[in-house]
Order: sequence, then C-alpha cells, then structure tokens
Amino acid sequence: MWVLAVLGAHWYLSLFTQTFFHHRYAAHRMFTMNEGWEKFFYILSFFFQGASYLSPRAYGIMHRMHHAYADTELDPHSPKYDANLFKMMWRTRNTYSSIFHYTTTVEAKFTKELPEWTWFDRMASNFVIRILWVGIYVWIYIALDAPWWLYPLIIIHAIMGPFHGMIINWYAHSIGYINFKMKDTSRNLFPVDLIMLGEGLHNNHHKHSGRANFGWKKYEFDPVYPIIKLLNWANVIKLRRPKVEVEHQVEEEAEVIG
Ligand SMILES: [Zn+2]
Ligand SMILES: [Zn+2]
Repeated sequence: MWVLAVLGAHWYLSLFTQTFFHHRYAAHRMFTMNEGWEKFFYILSFFFQGASYLSPRAYGIMHRMHHAYADTELDPHSPKYDANLFKMMWRTRNTYSSIFHYTTTVEAKFTKELPEWTWFDRMASNFVIRILWVGIYVWIYIALDAPWWLYPLIIIHAIMGPFHGMIINWYAHSIGYINFKMKDTSRNLFPVDLIMLGEGLHNNHHKHSGRANFGWKKYEFDPVYPIIKLLNWANVIKLRRPKVEVEHQVEEEAEVIG
C-alpha cells in the first residue's frame, strides 16, 4: 500500500517539475522567473525526477523542434513516422542525447532564451548518479517491506520522465478528441486531466502553444494552471500574456457586445 503511495507521489512530483519547469518554462517561456528561483526549480527537478532527470535546455530544444515540425519527418517523435512506441522512444532518446552532448547542429531559432546550468545538468545526468537514484528507490522498497512482486515497479521510477513523455508523445497524438483542426495529429486525452497534470490537453496546447492554461473549454481542467496563478500571485514567477489570450478575450468581448 505504502509502495503505491510512494509511486503516486513520485509520479506527480516528477511530472509537475517536467510540465511546469521543463515544458511551460524552458521550452515555451510562458512565464519568467529570476535566477534564484530558476536554480531552485533545477534542484527540485533533480530531486523529483531523480534517475530520469532531463536537462531543461536539451528538453526545451527538442520540444521546440516537436512543435515546429509536428508529425513530419523532422519531428523528434511522432506516431506517424515511428512504427511503434518503442521505436519512437528510442529515436527520441537518441535525439535528446545528441542535443545534450552538443553532437548535432541545432537551428539558432530553437536555442533562444533557454535556461542553462551546464555543470549541474552534467552532474544530474551522470550515469553513476542515475544508478545511485535507482539504489535509493530499491532501498525505499526494502524499507517499506514491499512484496517481491511489486519490485518491477522500480522500472517505472527509474524511467519516470521518458515514461510520461511516451504517454503524451504517442497517445496524445493518436487517441482522444480535438477542439482544433490542426495539420498535426495532436489530441486531447481527457477533458479533466488529473493523471497527466494538464499535459493530456495536447490538442489545445498545439493550437495555443504560448498559453499557460492547457484547458480551453469551460469544462476542461488543467490542474497545474491554478498553481501557476498562485506562483504568479506570490511573485515567484511572472506570467507572460500570450497574444492568443488577448485575441481570445477580444473575441469574448465581441461576443458579449454582439
Ligand atoms: Zn505534440
Ligand atoms: Zn509544448
């Protein structure tokens, strides 16, 4: 029982740092923060993502490529161009790795305004550190007296970040409903997205990629957005007002007037 609580906590804490810091901040710059808070969220990501820590810089570049080339041959991951889920994950891993190690040429448009903390990223991504994290996960299972048949769950702890990426990159591009007709295959997995913390509202996000709230329709709920609003209110971050939100408001106002 406790093991499942630990798995649930790790799921949400790891996913929160990925969606809040890597996705909405590093890749899309939906809000800004000062250097001190940036370092704080780097460290938080290291603790919560643990064995599968992702570099915000490398993730940011790869994710910007995904938006720019969604479902074309240049997309780093697409169910349209990868035969199956595992092939897609393997290709994603290789693209990420070549960006992380600077062994590929990245177009200048993808590298603007990215957080960078090179030595920290290298330390957190070091193989020995990753193995140490797996050791900590095993130790927690032992301390909680977990039955042997629950031990395979440690694999999910170890690959948590890529596991979340796989759910969105594969399933939110193949099943679900759409609000916006797009050239890509993006879908919304669930209207109230508690499992993927709003990331599942992927069709909305592809349409309005600068918007911090992934929900669009009244009944759609992105649980991270209230947290973003709270952090904005507390001056931890400063929300940027994307053009689309202004346009949307103008549309709404026009409707009221009409
Ligand atoms: Zn996508
Ligand atoms: Zn995105």
